[in-house]
Amino acid sequence: MTIDTGIPPSDVIVIGGGTGGYSTALRAASLGLDVVLVERDKVGGTCLHRGCIPSKAMLHAAELVDGIAEARERWGVKATVDSVDWDALVATRDDIVARNHKGVEAHLTHAGVRVVRGTARLTGTRTVRVEGVRAEAAPGAAGAPVPGTLDLTARRGIVLATGSRPRTLPGLAPDGRRVVTSDDALFAPGLPASVLVLGGGAIGVEYASFHRSMGAEVTLVEAADRIVPLEDADVSRYLTRGLRKRGIDVQAGARLLDAEVLEHGVRARVRTARGETRTVTADRLLVAVGRAPVTEGLDLAAAGLTTDERGFVVPADWDRLETAVPGVHVVGDLLPPPSLGLAHASFAEGLLVAETLAGLRSAPVDYAAVPRVTYSAPQTASVGLTEDGARARGHEVDVNTMPLTAVAKGMVHGQGGLVKVVAQAGGGQVLGVHLVGPHVSEMIAEGQLIVGWDAEPADVARHVHPHPTLSEAVGEVFLTLAGRGLHQQ
Ligand SMILES: Cc1cc2nc3c(=O)[nH]c(=O)nc-3n(C[C@H](O)[C@H](O)[C@H](O)COP(=O)(O)OP(=O)(O)OC[C@H]3O[C@@H](n4cnc5c(N)ncnc54)[C@H](O)[C@@H]3O)c2cc1C
Repeated sequence: MTIDTGIPPSDVIVIGGGTGGYSTALRAASLGLDVVLVERDKVGGTCLHRGCIPSKAMLHAAELVDGIAEARERWGVKATVDSVDWDALVATRDDIVARNHKGVEAHLTHAGVRVVRGTARLTGTRTVRVEGVRAEAAPGAAGAPVPGTLDLTARRGIVLATGSRPRTLPGLAPDGRRVVTSDDALFAPGLPASVLVLGGGAIGVEYASFHRSMGAEVTLVEAADRIVPLEDADVSRYLTRGLRKRGIDVQAGARLLDAEVLEHGVRARVRTARGETRTVTADRLLVAVGRAPVTEGLDLAAAGLTTDERGFVVPADWDRLETAVPGVHVVGDLLPPPSLGLAHASFAEGLLVAETLAGLRSAPVDYAAVPRVTYSAPQTASVGLTEDGARARGHEVDVNTMPLTAVAKGMVHGQGGLVKVVAQAGGGQVLGVHLVGPHVSEMIAEGQLIVGWDAEPADVARHVHPHPTLSEAVGEVFLTLAGRGLHQQ
C-alpha cells in the first residue's frame, strides 16, 4: 500500500543518517537545497550509537582506572579500584550518546532537513520507496508521514550512505552472548573476566585495551603478521610491546582454527605464528575482523548500479564521489579504499557531495591526509605514508624518530611513546607522521596539516612548540630533519 502523504519532491534524497548521510544533508541544506533524509534506525548511525562515541566513552573510563593504578604505583596516591559498576559506566556512556543524538536531531530540524524514518530502497535513478515509515517521522515536513509506505522523488540526486555492519568469519556465528561483535559488546549485561579478541585492527585493539583496563584476561589474535597492520611497522611493534606490558597476550600471525560455545564461555583453538596449536578459554569471544558495506534491500539494480565483489559501491568519479549513474553519489563506509571506513572521512565526503550537488566545484577528499587513530592504551595516531609504504612507492626517504620520554612531559606521563616522521630525502616533502603513546590522538592534528599542506621539515622547524608538552617531541623531530636538532643530530 502506498500512502500519498503530501511530501513534495526534494532536491536531494539521502539514504542513511549516519555521519556520512547527516553531514551531506546538513551541508546541502545550508547551501539552500531541499533535502529528505531517510533513516531506518536512529540518526547518528554507527559512529554515534555503536562506534566512535560509546567506545571512546568506555575508553575514557578505562583511562581513569589505569590512572588510579599509576597514581598508586608512581605518585604515592593511596588509592585502589574497588570495582567497576558496569551499569553506572553504561549509564554515563549512554547519556553522552543520547545528548549527542538529540544534538544531531536538532541540527537536522534547524537546517530544515525532512527526516523520514523507515527503510529506503531505490526504485529508479531519482526515486526511492520508503517502507515501514514510522509515525514520529519528519519534524518540519510538509505533512508528517503516517506509518506505511512512502514514495519519494529527488530533482537533483540521491546520496547512498547506508554504511556498514560487523563482519564475521565463516563458521563463527555471533550469538550476542558468548560470541559477540563490537555492537553486542556495548549491550552485554556485564564485564567479562576473560576475552578472546579476534582481529588486531583499531576496533579489536581498542576493545582488547578496554577489557584489560577493566581487569579481564585478554588474548588478542591477528592473522596478519602484526597488529594494526596498516600502521607503520615501528608503531605496530611499539603498540604490541605496550599491550604486552599491560598483560595482553598479543598473538599476531595467528589464526583461529575453531571455536566451541560452552555454557559459560568459549573454547577456541588458535594456531600461533610458530605453528603451535593453543587452546584459549574465555568468557567471551569478540569478533572484530572488519566491517562489511550494507546494501541488502537497497535494490541498487533499480538505479542501474552494482557493487564490487566485496559489496562496496565504487564511484565512477572519485573527485565527485559520483557513481556511474549521474546524480547518484556515495559516501562513508559504502566506499572502498582509498576511503578509510572512518567517521571523519565520511564527514569530508558528505561535504564534498553536498557541494557537488549544489553546483560547487569543491576539492576532492585528500585521503592521503586523513588521520587514523587507535584509542587504546597506548594510543596510535598517524597520517600519510608509512616508511615501508613510502619506499614501496619509490620515494627515497629521510626518517627520524624520537621517544616521547626524551622530553620532560613524556617523563611526567611515564608511559613511553614514539614520534616518527618520514620525509622525502634531502629536506623534501613530509610524507608521513606516526605517533604512539599517551594522548597522541590529540597531537595528530598538527601532522595532518603538515602532510595536507605538503610542508617540508624546514617549514615546520621554524614554528615553536610549547614547553613542556608532548608535542615538543614532534617539534624536535622536525628540527632534526631540518638539520637544527637540539637533542639529536
Ligand atoms: C566500534 C567502532 C568504533 C569506531 N570508532 C571510530 C572512531 O573512533 N573514529 C572514526 O572516525 N570512526 C570510527 N568508527 C567507524 C565509523 O563508525 C564509521 O566509519 C561511520 O559510522 C560510517 O558512517 P556512515 O554514514 O557511512 O555509516 P553508518 O554510520 O553505518 O550509517 C548508516 C546509516 O544508514 C542506515 N541505513 C542503512 N540502510 C538503510 C536503508 N535501506 N534505509 C534507511 N536507512 C538505512 C543505518 O540505520 C545507519 O544509521 C568506529 C566503528 C566501530 C564499529
